[in-house]
Amino acid sequence: MALMKDLRIHCNLIFFPYICPTDFHRISNGLLFFAKSKTFTSRSPYSYLKMKLKNAFIITGFFAAISLSAQETPRMTPEMTQVWEPVSRIVTPGRAPEAIIPAPSDAIVLFDGTDLSKWQHPNGNTPEWVIHDGYFAIKKGTGDIQTKQLFNDFQMHIEWRIPADVQGTSQGRGNSGIFIQGMYELQILDSYNNPTYVNGQAGSIYKQSPPLVNASRPPGEWNVYDIIYTAPTFKADGTYRTPPRITVFHNGVLIQNDFVIRGTTEWIGHPQVREHGAGPIRLQQHGSMNAPINFRNIWIREL
Ligand code: MG
Repeated sequence: MALMKDLRIHCNLIFFPYICPTDFHRISNGLLFFAKSKTFTSRSPYSYLKMKLKNAFIITGFFAAISLSAQETPRMTPEMTQVWEPVSRIVTPGRAPEAIIPAPSDAIVLFDGTDLSKWQHPNGNTPEWVIHDGYFAIKKGTGDIQTKQLFNDFQMHIEWRIPADVQGTSQGRGNSGIFIQGMYELQILDSYNNPTYVNGQAGSIYKQSPPLVNASRPPGEWNVYDIIYTAPTFKADGTYRTPPRITVFHNGVLIQNDFVIRGTTEWIGHPQVREHGAGPIRLQQHGSMNAPINFRNIWIREL
């Protein structure tokens, strides 16, 4: 037994402990005998070593794979998904209509200038955004608002205005957004002489698609989005059978042409495919918002 003990100690010093025969009992007729509860099993030294080496390779390979994958997946930052070039060409849109154009007869009017009865806070509470004469304004610190009604495919009209006294730069200048079905953001921003990453400027599908051109009106003037949206359908495994698609006109100018949305809007990282049904129209109260952005004349036609 003293010989066995010496053998184990030397083996542990030279090799990994888990390839050393720590559980054998005696050597007899060239075979290793192992204590297994109250009985003994035997193996040849060759087959025993083969088994131990195989285990060693599996365990070492497992930890090497974990280490490698940790090194190859760097932590993503917001900057990694920003695109700065090419800068969308500026197109001066036609003059805004003098008066509000009424909604078509079959439209659901989401805001007619008088009340927010079609809207709620995402937690179900009454929204605290402020109604003025014919429009409403974001109230900082009170969160987003969204429609009570849920939608799938639709045509939507919405007018928005960055206040003339807006301050800040880049994403901190007049940031809001329209989250379609509560998860895909069509960006609202002051993009009139306000450089930022192009897949985050006004009219972008945020972090996915820059607008084809920049048709922004200056702060203090009303902008118009007309949106045509086709909701996704899903396979049984939760991936897209048909992805969501969007076409957008900004002040009458085409800026998104049947764009295939890749997934959820993510500030950090890549879009995710998340199964969902009909969803609300959600308006963003952005954390860095420094001006009470205005909205008016919002209607939607289900398709
Ligand atoms: Mg936004």
